[in-house]
Amino acid sequence: VRRYANMSLEQEITLPNGIKYVQPTGLFINNEFVKPHQGKAFEVVSPSSEEVITSVYESREDDVDEAVHYAQSAFNSDWNRADPAQRGRALYKLADLIEENAETIAGIESLDNGKSLGNARGDVALGINVLRSAAGFTDKLFGTIIETGNDHFNYTLREPLGVCGQIIPWNFPFLMFMWKIAPALATGNTVVLKSSETTPLSALYACGLVKQHKIFPPGVLNVLSGFGKITGNALTEHPGISKIAFTGSTATGKSIMKKCAESNLKKITLELGGKSPHIIFNDANVDVAVQSIVNGIFYNSGEVCSAGSRLYVQDDIYDTFVDKFVKYTEDNVKVGDPFAPSTVQGAQNSLNQLNKILQYIKTGSQEGAKLLTGGERLSEKGFFVKPTIFGDVTENMRIVKEEIFGPVLTVSRFKTTEDVIKLANDSEYGLAAGIQTTNHDRAIHVARELKAGTIWVNTYNDFHSMVPFGGYKQSGIGREMGQEVLSNYTQTKAIRAGIYLNSFK
Ligand code: NAD
Repeated sequence: VRRYANMSLEQEITLPNGIKYVQPTGLFINNEFVKPHQGKAFEVVSPSSEEVITSVYESREDDVDEAVHYAQSAFNSDWNRADPAQRGRALYKLADLIEENAETIAGIESLDNGKSLGNARGDVALGINVLRSAAGFTDKLFGTIIETGNDHFNYTLREPLGVCGQIIPWNFPFLMFMWKIAPALATGNTVVLKSSETTPLSALYACGLVKQHKIFPPGVLNVLSGFGKITGNALTEHPGISKIAFTGSTATGKSIMKKCAESNLKKITLELGGKSPHIIFNDANVDVAVQSIVNGIFYNSGEVCSAGSRLYVQDDIYDTFVDKFVKYTEDNVKVGDPFAPSTVQGAQNSLNQLNKILQYIKTGSQEGAKLLTGGERLSEKGFFVKPTIFGDVTENMRIVKEEIFGPVLTVSRFKTTEDVIKLANDSEYGLAAGIQTTNHDRAIHVARELKAGTIWVNTYNDFHSMVPFGGYKQSGIGREMGQEVLSNYTQTKAIRAGIYLNSFK
């Protein structure tokens, strides 16, 4: 619900885990929380209770202009000219503050997104690591010296791009905030970031820490709550922005890429959808495989771009393995209150997403897939879906081809290693893949043949701040995390200086 608002720039909130905190509600521009030019606000709903948590102010084109103006001024300041270790110190300090407030942030995230508190804690911990990894790189952005003979001196500098527009989704609101701002700021860029319209709270809370502890010079980090078609669009078309980094659906990613090209040929990184295969060979360690599949498809309520949503099980173990996995899911994947310690799977993020998942479940049954467990909404209140497994699917079914983005797994059989490599690669996506096997040679061979940006062996959805992540094919462009992300936020300047030996002889 949107409305004209004259509300306070902060609101006291008590989280379901009893923690009281102050939630900023304004736009974070030039180190201040401000009201938007048009004074509108929108409500933020808890996916598990369907109650309104609070309202936040909504940015529009004129607010984007203002944020970009300050981000440009900050870019032209000492931010990227002074000793880069200073940026490192700022990022380390922010990481420490987030660590001190980790339980509050996890609670906000769980309330706002619907994910289990355990998942939210994991997001915050990884976010802290990502900040610290990026901080460590600030004073290690080396250029090179290139020898071409004594009549020239050649060297390169790695320079920042300028103002980076960043657009993040609702499935990992805080973690995506960290993944995006850490490398951009570490390399000396400045940022205008738009959070998702359904999950704006944790990024604003972190901006509160930035403001209170004066972490960055004014204008370095700007965060706008707002809608994709208005604020997101304004960022992609803005001539003052040099780069867009986006995480979300492939369809939106394509339209953003077009606009970035047409406006001022912005640099771009895209972290998009997936339909990742997860392969269970007959020599897999069954317990490890079961746990990996649970992490693969039910972690974060299945709202994970790298979800292992297409399961391939080798023919000779198919029946026993699938029976065991279905039983394990029914007994162990508890769905419900995100704050209950026993909850494995929380709520889906929105009514839209819930309906999309339920529609796909219906399609799966209509297509003739065999429903092995789940397949329905859990309760009248809150956006909960039972963990759902379809068996004996065929490759042309929509539930096997399209990204569902929910706790829905399809299972099919395969005979040989070469067969399953073909099946796994038969997708327009290429974000991730999983292999469960105890045969080392097989793991290495299959990992090389699969066309995906991340291959997990005997684990799944297992992220580390130093291991790069990103997509092949239509799953994206560029990489996040690790050393690799730095090249997505820097450009190389080559300097070739002629040396005229006669000039000083
Ligand atoms: P989306 O891609 O439309 O939205 C993601 C972000 O982009 C949000 O911040 C949104 O406000 C913004 N956005 C939307 N339209 C925009 C535009 N025209 N210009 C600029 N920014 C824009 O995703 P969604 O509608 O929230 O979800 C739809 C589907 O996307 C999901 O069902 C899921 O399949 C997929 N998805 C994938 C990821 C991922 O991590 N790969 C994340 C979220 C959603």
